[in-house]
Amino acid sequence: MEKPLRIGVLAVQGNFREHAAVLRRLGAEAVEVRLPEQLDGIDGLILPGGESTAIARLMRLYGLDEALREFAAPVFGTCAGMIVLDREHLGLGDFTVRRNAFGRQVASFEADLDIDSSGEPVRAVFIRAPWIEDAGPDVEILAEVDGHPVLAREGRLLVAAFHPELTDDTRIHELFLNMVREGLTSVDSAELAKRAEVPASPAAGAGISVRA
Ligand code: GLN
Repeated sequence: MEKPLRIGVLAVQGNFREHAAVLRRLGAEAVEVRLPEQLDGIDGLILPGGESTAIARLMRLYGLDEALREFAAPVFGTCAGMIVLDREHLGLGDFTVRRNAFGRQVASFEADLDIDSSGEPVRAVFIRAPWIEDAGPDVEILAEVDGHPVLAREGRLLVAAFHPELTDDTRIHELFLNMVREGLTSVDSAELAKRAEVPASPAAGAGISVRA
């Protein structure tokens, strides 16, 4: 039998238990991560939703911010987890996220997202949700609400403004696990994933235009 994927879930604050439950449902091993050494030997990491200021502060306190800069495997950030990955926080993603972007009065809502045109839409739960305000050229927008990006991929990073761990639909987690599997079968996952996403344009010339 195939060895189960070992996926870390940052467990300092927020919805980490719900993410761990979805991962187990999908046959992966879920590892709660509170210390840098717990990143060793995991195939991917989820940063859950919660309160981004608390998560960022606790990550700094435990040295997880530095450790994550060295971590090369796929990372999935949801809601507050998407915020901490942006340019103004950990800086792992080439995008800027606006917190509470849908307005504080709209504390939460649900929306159907068309992710691939052939399949059923994904019912997404938004709770004081952010959106992506600005994104670099390597960020692929996978879904929007009212013209604002709420699901995106950038190489080994996947980010969602909503809470896929709060519904029974496991497709977004499956998308992430597929990214992890892709990474495990390639020599240098992050680099290859990035290259694969650079559109072949004549302007790129002979060189491979991978941004550092
Ligand atoms: N508004 C929260 C923040 O800024 C995120 C909300 C969430 O994760 N559900 O951290």
